Amino acid sequence: MSSNSGIQIPSRLPLLLTHEGVLLPGSTMRISVETARNMHLVKNRLLKGTSLKSTIIGVIPNTRDPEHDTEDLPTLHSIGTAGLAVQVVGSNWPKPHYTLLITGLCRFRVAQLLKEGPFPVAEVEQLDKLEQYTSPEEMSEAAGPDGELGELSQRFYQAAVQLVGMLDMSVPVVAKLRRLLDSLPRETLPDVLASMIHTSNKEKLQVLDAVSLEERFKKTLPLLTRQIEGLKLLRKTRKPRLDDDKRVLAVRKGGVLPGRQFSLDEEGDDEDGDDTAVLERKVKGANMPEPALRVCLKELKRLKKMPQSMPEYALTRNYLDLMVELPWSKSTTDCLDIHAARVLLDSDHYAMEKLKRRVLEYLAVRQLKSTLKGPILCFVGPPGVGKTSVGRSIARTLGREFHRIALGGVCDQSDIRGHRRTYVGSMPGRIINGLKTVGVNNPVFLLDEVDKLGKSLQGDPASALLEVLDPEQNHSFTDHYLNVAFDLSQVLFIATANSTATIPPALLDRMEVLQVQGYTQEEKVEIAHRHLIPHQLEQHGLTPQQLQIPQDTTQDIISKYTREAGVRSLERKIGAICRAVAVKVAEGHNVTKSEAAPSESAPQGAEHGEGKRGRRAEEPDGVSADMAAPPDMPIVMDHIALKDILGPHVFEMEVSERLTLPGVAVGLAWTPLGGEIMFVEASRMEGEGQLTLTGQLGDVMKESAHLAMSWLRSNAKTYQLTNLVGGSDPLEGTDIHLHFPAGAVTKDGPSAGVTMVTVLASLFSGRLVRSDVAMTGEITLRGLVLPVGGIKDKVLAAHRAGVKRVIIPKRNEKDLEEIPANVRKELDFVTASNLDEVLNAAFDGGFPGMSNPLTLPHIVSKL
Ligand code: ADP
Repeated sequence: MSSNSGIQIPSRLPLLLTHEGVLLPGSTMRISVETARNMHLVKNRLLKGTSLKSTIIGVIPNTRDPEHDTEDLPTLHSIGTAGLAVQVVGSNWPKPHYTLLITGLCRFRVAQLLKEGPFPVAEVEQLDKLEQYTSPEEMSEAAGPDGELGELSQRFYQAAVQLVGMLDMSVPVVAKLRRLLDSLPRETLPDVLASMIHTSNKEKLQVLDAVSLEERFKKTLPLLTRQIEGLKLLRKTRKPRLDDDKRVLAVRKGGVLPGRQFSLDEEGDDEDGDDTAVLERKVKGANMPEPALRVCLKELKRLKKMPQSMPEYALTRNYLDLMVELPWSKSTTDCLDIHAARVLLDSDHYAMEKLKRRVLEYLAVRQLKSTLKGPILCFVGPPGVGKTSVGRSIARTLGREFHRIALGGVCDQSDIRGHRRTYVGSMPGRIINGLKTVGVNNPVFLLDEVDKLGKSLQGDPASALLEVLDPEQNHSFTDHYLNVAFDLSQVLFIATANSTATIPPALLDRMEVLQVQGYTQEEKVEIAHRHLIPHQLEQHGLTPQQLQIPQDTTQDIISKYTREAGVRSLERKIGAICRAVAVKVAEGHNVTKSEAAPSESAPQGAEHGEGKRGRRAEEPDGVSADMAAPPDMPIVMDHIALKDILGPHVFEMEVSERLTLPGVAVGLAWTPLGGEIMFVEASRMEGEGQLTLTGQLGDVMKESAHLAMSWLRSNAKTYQLTNLVGGSDPLEGTDIHLHFPAGAVTKDGPSAGVTMVTVLASLFSGRLVRSDVAMTGEITLRGLVLPVGGIKDKVLAAHRAGVKRVIIPKRNEKDLEEIPANVRKELDFVTASNLDEVLNAAFDGGFPGMSNPLTLPHIVSKL
């Protein structure tokens, strides 16, 4: 045996109990699956599994009489064979069953049964070494005589040669076996021959149980000799016929009942021969580059020499199948027409003008230069703002295939670059897999969530991705599984992320970041009516004649049931409505109860129903009224129906309701999910002058709190702040507690500085902060207000929450241009360069009081 430690099977295996004979390592067997237990195993493991590893199962001979096999698990035979399911065929005739083609890999012992149902799973101990397949040349170097066993195995080998010598070498399968005898490692011969010659199940079970190699040789040798003697006898009595030779080497469908066995007939073998011939033709016709072709031909040569029963056969076969399937030189032709692209982008997406413009520029440059060397576009924005769907549109405008590769949580570089083929269960990476799926070498690949790439001991996936994206390198991208270069230079990559902060810098460097901002309420209503509602109706098999959602209702869904930057949960809510209505329609009740009542919000386009509605409202409530409804009357979603389906309002708390005490103010925060409003609360009590902060704050935020406190203390006199005992140092004899609600979410960043100052100023002065104001800005010890990021998202969040005045740093004034005009119109923007201005804008009548109206800051608003 060679010195490497060999291949390991998984330590936990699902167990298949079979009555149909004994599977030995190195042989292939068809097993019919009919019991509920085994059916569960096939469905849950083999049909759902995605990796090769999940297609390895433990096969255990079931010694119990099949007639008496009941629900409960029989006592398990302690030794079984781990097998690779090579093929699963299902049929419903005459009753539901599967047929598995399984190749035995090695023995295992059941160490512990982990669970019994719905199919047994056990912790197992691998008993045989499982080696890489070595070619005959390498073998002859490795195999040397080793003592007694050497002599035993030599005897066994000679007997096997003798047996094969008695058969007709012109039969292909015999010739193949003859070749195999020399190429297989000697220690695998007993298993392989025991499964090929006539033996009873009991004898095979004995071979299976012979864990030590010596015992195995000793058990099998007599069986081999018996076969030889039998054959001699046969020869004496009648002229040998081709048939007999073939029948000797039989792949059986369970047991050795004479006459019931499947003989490995010429047809089958031809199929095998043909199979490799077909494969060879495919390899030659796949139009692959020279190096890949060379590798394939070499593997093909190895495959021909390999017994089908070797586990490696299936692996090599899979490899070659993949190689011929890959689109080495298949591509689609780009059909880019900028005018058509503009129309298509516009019709697929409402709003997002800036992004669409940039995408068109990008496409136009590509058309002129007809090369892909350029930055990779990366759409950055909150979830549900249409990043993926713009990617899909780009593919459509170019007439290319589209494929999305989800990178969220990928922390192993072999996910990108594949596993080397030396492992059981090795697979190509996602890039190669994607190419196989789309079947062309110039698709649009959307690398979704590049900011959520992880890192682990298995290498850094980001660096693998770097190689994929680098135009200097990616024309010869080498997947570990393929082990030959594949040209990715024709692939158009687009990336998406929620935030650039967590994108590895080297990766970010390759990309051109396009910010995709959240939508305003009005934009969402438009998107819902132009895209989401028609799409959802179609998905649920409904027509506008069956369900109508008026604009008022959409607005209610947006403001009362969702709070998000994108439109994803809006789409889900519309989906929920469609489902509820679909049930009604399916039941034949084409009218909801609430619809029968006069609706407040007059639905547009439902005027024709108006007369009927009035009449129906007078009818007695209940089923009979519903039954009498004309079948073509649409269900109109008014606010009552909405409440019935979606339940009570999820977001209703008005900002003003929360600002009824001194010591509360509204800050604006930016999260990868978009902007959010954040209530900041402060309270004070007698104490030692301590500042307590709660709400999972990061270091930067804690520092801001101390800055705010210090600035207020140093300016306490100017602002007429008092402490609990009437003095002017706010901390004297007083403890302060500052809290940021939603304590489960970690918050950090300097932008809450101005809010903290405002909250504390309100607390120390006992005055209420204006109930319609929200703010953001970093502060310095000297009371200056510094610019912060994410202004657009923050302002949109404030607008969603019904705030009227927004205080932002003076130096962020330029960011206001990005804000849609209708939102700007409805908000007062106060740009502040110092804290005086912030406080003046945050309190009615200015701060410290009406006496000081001179510094009312510049109001930009109503632009
Ligand atoms: P993301 O990738 O940004 O998380 P998606 O592309 O999956 O978001 O968008 C979610 C849903 O919202 C999709 O059904 C998409 O079609 C729709 N959508 C988002 N923005 C728009 C828009 N501007 N116009 C039309 N539909 C949109």
